[in-house]
Amino acid sequence: MLLLALTGSSFLFAQVRISSDFDTGSIGKYSLLDSVWVKRGANDSLLTLTYEIHSRFDPLNPVDTSLRPSARWYHFRMEGVKGKQIFLNIKNSEVIRPFYSYDGVNYKRFEEVENQFRGTINKIFTSDTVYISHFVPYTYSRFKDKMKHWKSYDYVKHEIIGESTQGRPLEMITVTNDDFDVTEKKAIWIHGRSHPSESPSSWHLEAMIDEITSDSEFGRELRKNAIFYIVPYINPDGVYGGYSRSTSTGVNIEINWDRPDSLTMPEVKALKAALEKVTANKPLDLLLNMHSQIANSVTYWIHTAESTTDKFLKEQLMLSSLTINYTPFYRPKDQSFSAVAPRYAEGWIWDRFGEATLAITFETPYTFYNEDRSGTWVSTENLKELGYSVLYAVSDLYNLDSKNRILVNLTSTRRKSGWAVSDAGYKRLFFGDSYLISQKRGARLKVKLPLVEKGEYELYSWVVGPSAEVFPDSVNRWLKKAEITQRRDGRFIWRIRSQNPGEEESAILLVRKR
Ligand SMILES: [Zn+2]
Repeated sequence: MLLLALTGSSFLFAQVRISSDFDTGSIGKYSLLDSVWVKRGANDSLLTLTYEIHSRFDPLNPVDTSLRPSARWYHFRMEGVKGKQIFLNIKNSEVIRPFYSYDGVNYKRFEEVENQFRGTINKIFTSDTVYISHFVPYTYSRFKDKMKHWKSYDYVKHEIIGESTQGRPLEMITVTNDDFDVTEKKAIWIHGRSHPSESPSSWHLEAMIDEITSDSEFGRELRKNAIFYIVPYINPDGVYGGYSRSTSTGVNIEINWDRPDSLTMPEVKALKAALEKVTANKPLDLLLNMHSQIANSVTYWIHTAESTTDKFLKEQLMLSSLTINYTPFYRPKDQSFSAVAPRYAEGWIWDRFGEATLAITFETPYTFYNEDRSGTWVSTENLKELGYSVLYAVSDLYNLDSKNRILVNLTSTRRKSGWAVSDAGYKRLFFGDSYLISQKRGARLKVKLPLVEKGEYELYSWVVGPSAEVFPDSVNRWLKKAEITQRRDGRFIWRIRSQNPGEEESAILLVRKR
């Protein structure tokens, strides 16, 4: 019996193979620490195998040698695991209910009970092959498939703007409806995935691109009123090779924007050239840089007024506050602040275009939202929802959907006796360059729209609050005022009457119900 068990066990150990030689695969050194037979019955034993796995460090950054390489990403395959209890102790990275897959396509989060000890996984797998990863991988081949689909639309122009170190194309799509004058359009640049481990950001961005290119009414309005330049995958070598925060050469291209040419990576050179090309006639209105962060919250990295201007801070906070409106997974207290710095794309843009371009980084978490372990955990589905939230915020900020999301800046209303136009600069959050302040109790405002299409709408009013790092949840947001039934295509009138002097009004929003 003993002999049988020993022969059996050595046979079975030999069966477990670990590998990472595939798209987005990554593992450092690993070893089998222990193997134990657990007896469940006279002829029924369970083999428990304990592995110590080290996630792989990026190469030392040759441009910034003082930086400690990251080892966040892991994605490896284990074969021969069926029916065995596998205990994995993963070093160098976070192991808070990561993901597994039996087919390398459909990934599932490990259950709480399978991740009871910090940094470990403990599970009896039901298939012989299993993939284990930090988050649901967003592979190079998925990107290629999606790109093939996006570029098939006639309103999508596809370009190769350069090549990575290993010779992969850097692909950009330009999405707009050419029937409308480009000089009237908002110019929006979006890029993502400079950090390969940040796969949640790609699921989020994919949903945004799907909507921007979709046949939905919203998608059509976006293309009518904006031109989108999108480079979804700026570090293809890093992603394919399973790096954490660098290219295959160890360089963190996120902070490679202020280097001399000789130390600038080909990916960054290509992005700079493409940005120079698309801004030749006028600056971008918005640049979104998509990332994921290990903090368990969503955030924008908002540049401080001290490093930019009051007006720029206010514009960034408007985008951030509007996003908060459209998702339960982002709160005023999650906002992050930092000084603008030339090593980042945002700093490079700031140095060229200043206030004209709102350049900002958006971060999605990997694990759960709102710093709440008992709340909602991050999934590809809710990242998709978050993608819509960001698009709605962008739409409101630039008034991109005048059909289904009608935004009226109240400073443009003709009849506004009893109201003064603000002149205090940008210490409050409001649409445009100024807002209205009532001068007396009972001051009236009449909003008249010549044509609103027949339909059901919700009417919101913007609650003006401070342009500050901290503000209560009740301000800097849309407040629902009414349900509107527009019986036929035609004129729409909305009246506002102040209760007290000093009341602030900025904008109303009519959102058509689907
Ligand atoms: Zn990042």
